[in-house]
Amino acid sequence: MSHEPIIGIDLGTTNSLVAICDAQGPRTIPDRSGSPLVPSAVRYAQGTTVVGADARRDATAHPRHTVLSVKRLMGRSLAEVGADLPFLSYAVEAGPRGTCRVRLPGDPGAADLVLSPEEVSAAVLRHLKLLAESHLGREVRKAVITVPAYFDDAQRQATRTAARLAGLEAVRLVPEPTAAALAYGLGLSSADRTPRHVAVYDLGGGTFDISILRLTPAEGEDPFFFQVLAVGGDTRLGGDDADHLVADLFRREILARTGAAPAPESTQGLISLAEQVKIRLSEHETAPVRIDLGPAGVYERTLTRAEFESLITPLVDRTIDRCRIALASAETELAGKPLDAAVLVGGSTRIPLVRRRVGECFNLEPYTALDPDQVVALGASVQAAVLSGDRRGTLLLDVIPLSLGVETVGGAVAKVIMRNTPVPARATEMFSTSVDNQTAFRLTVFQGEREMAADCRRLGEFHLRGLPPMPAGIPQLEITFLVDANGVLGVSALERRSGRRASMQVIPNHGLTPEEVDRIEQESVTHAREDMTRHRIVDLIANSNLDLKWIGERFDRFSGELPPPERDSLSACMTRLRGLVARATADWKGVAPDELHQAKESLDRASVRLQEISIAASLRGSTARPG
Ligand code: AMP
Repeated sequence: MSHEPIIGIDLGTTNSLVAICDAQGPRTIPDRSGSPLVPSAVRYAQGTTVVGADARRDATAHPRHTVLSVKRLMGRSLAEVGADLPFLSYAVEAGPRGTCRVRLPGDPGAADLVLSPEEVSAAVLRHLKLLAESHLGREVRKAVITVPAYFDDAQRQATRTAARLAGLEAVRLVPEPTAAALAYGLGLSSADRTPRHVAVYDLGGGTFDISILRLTPAEGEDPFFFQVLAVGGDTRLGGDDADHLVADLFRREILARTGAAPAPESTQGLISLAEQVKIRLSEHETAPVRIDLGPAGVYERTLTRAEFESLITPLVDRTIDRCRIALASAETELAGKPLDAAVLVGGSTRIPLVRRRVGECFNLEPYTALDPDQVVALGASVQAAVLSGDRRGTLLLDVIPLSLGVETVGGAVAKVIMRNTPVPARATEMFSTSVDNQTAFRLTVFQGEREMAADCRRLGEFHLRGLPPMPAGIPQLEITFLVDANGVLGVSALERRSGRRASMQVIPNHGLTPEEVDRIEQESVTHAREDMTRHRIVDLIANSNLDLKWIGERFDRFSGELPPPERDSLSACMTRLRGLVARATADWKGVAPDELHQAKESLDRASVRLQEISIAASLRGSTARPG
């Protein structure tokens, strides 16, 4: 990084993150525990200030010394924060000119500590600054900090002051939804000057925000210009409510089964268990629940995703209602144009029902490629890189620099979109299964020019589950790759016979420098001949195995109907091909592809008569089945 570094900071109510964007693209910086999420918690005791995970973990032991959620107090008067006070464990009082002050008991013999919200926020910012400095190995003095879209002047000013107290110049305050859009490169396009309209749906643990933005590519220092067209939300609605609904269900069922309600002191335990169940249901269709009630027995049940979804539907409905209101208030500005993207932010947007409903509401497949907890910080770092002149619009691309494909049987990669294809690009390929009765299909997505998956860059994987059992080769898997103008790759899989679908999103170029793209391309040239041979062998093995299986089954049933010389020659062809396949499987260099190809062709030719007999038999309704 040649210029003075500018870091991106998401200064959140519950968690804060710091990110940087350099030649490797935007990335968050993890703290000592390995997580980039730094709890916005500060404990003041024994003359020391403890920030982050340690302060959060011990908050219940030191409720009056630990400041949580201070963002709710920033730049606001005591009167304005009245509704928040019952949720805060520490004392809040009026300071000069109606501002808020946090009062914490002093150490024994010392006076109470009275702090402004700015000072507490500064402690969090200082912690993030140090994290970035130890990661970068140099001093950091400037930051782009995100603020909620609804923050007024006083709240913004308080954020700037907090930065100054932490030794950071806030070179720009960026609305959180704008940062989320920037993380996806939305609004950075300089070639195309048409404005983009983006919805940012942010559902965290305790709050919900919806924003509709307009991003207009512009000239000058910033490559974009943004306007917030509408905001909405609910400061008391989030994933925590889902936990309470699930915990309530458990409580009701325990009461119904045992005749006794769970003890009040078990409430927190029930809520934590409910959260674990909820998180599991984002990935799985079912979650097992088992609670040992002591003498009252054991409460055991399996919660399905469908049951969970019907429980939380009213919560999700409330967020969707707010989205509709926001859309309606942006109606004049949108002038009938559809939205270009919907971006998801906040841990609760991992819930599949939330993703589905947001998609339906905005009539768009929402963006999910980036971690919803990190997207705001990543976007802040993109804005920082733009301001530092380090990388202007680096996320943008005109062509796809490296081919994109999926892994096929045997570890080869079937390329779906070839390198140098202009964006946006879309391509569809048909695949099938190689094993009978396969009910799930794993799709692994790769990037690169080499022929084998092991030599390419793995971008991610997903599963298409719930397929009805079918013989190998019968399922029709339609795999679609779509790279949009912002370089976001969506891969979707549809099994046509059953209608089952699954999909994923990634940003293939994150973390790739231009030098790496060159190196990967060069390697493919160096290995081209060997790679082609290997790919050919792997495909021949897969196809030969399918042939051997199909012909072998029919041979067992109908060989009695073949004239003996044909039967013997067919049997010899099968033995020969089996032998070659076994050798090639053990070592792909052990067999020449042409030899394998010829053996496969010979078997195909030798099996013509058998195929005719088998077709005739199936036309007769399989009455010829022997035995
Ligand atoms: P945030 O405030 O953005 O950190 O979001 C925290 C909320 O996201 C909490 O309610 C978590 O329980 C919830 N959450 C985190 N991961 C998941 C997940 N995989 N599925 C559902 N909810 C999640």
